[in-house]
Amino acid sequence: MRILVCNDDGINAPGITALAAELCSLGQVIVVAPDSERSAASNSLTLAHPLRVREVTFPAPVEKAYAISGTPADCAKIGLSTLLPEKPDLVVSGINCGPNMCVDIFYSGTVAAAFEGAFRGILSAAVSLDSYSPRADFSVAAKWAVRCLRMLIDAEVEPARVYNINVPCIPENDVRGVKLTRTGTIDYREEYDHRHDPHGRSYYWLKGNPEIIDPAPDCDIVAVKAGYVSLTPLKADLTDSALLAALAGKIPLPEK
Ligand code: MN
Repeated sequence: MRILVCNDDGINAPGITALAAELCSLGQVIVVAPDSERSAASNSLTLAHPLRVREVTFPAPVEKAYAISGTPADCAKIGLSTLLPEKPDLVVSGINCGPNMCVDIFYSGTVAAAFEGAFRGILSAAVSLDSYSPRADFSVAAKWAVRCLRMLIDAEVEPARVYNINVPCIPENDVRGVKLTRTGTIDYREEYDHRHDPHGRSYYWLKGNPEIIDPAPDCDIVAVKAGYVSLTPLKADLTDSALLAALAGKIPLPEK
């Protein structure tokens, strides 16, 4: 099995090292990651600048590793179209330092890189740890991610999707198992910190503490806070099918 590994925290982030090392038990791993942190880049692409590709040495026993002067989506795209010798069987992105649940999946570069795989019909996964500490232990999350991937591969699930995996940052023995979830609902309060620089000029810094709006136990964030590994299947089609059907008879559509 051939596996493409990407992330948005950059090629030197501890999360991608732990993930790539664990994925070596599944197959041949090629790492293509941004040369610096590109969190919250979503699916943005580099169009106005050249994309620099540098082959680098990597701590885990991977086949090859490349650092790219672009976004997570750039990494997955150039990996899939150009750098890999053949189409991989799996695209895995992460492990992100910080969760990617609820509305955050729209901003996530981690999830975006995985979607580039799903767009091409490849089984893809995004893996995130529910901790913003770069000193967090990513090895437990890496093991759970590979357990989930083995389960998905064995079950021959729909490949053209992103399986969004979020792992609680708790001791290995305290993890209560895997829960199938849906995307939850949160609300951010106090979103920008207003500060002043040493010259007295003001600036803003995005922050925000999410407040859980939907406390249902099958929501991703609720499951993770309860100690479960959350597994949510995501698809690129954002059409609200129920609303589409309801609109069909409800609004008079202008003709010509
Ligand atoms: Mn990140």
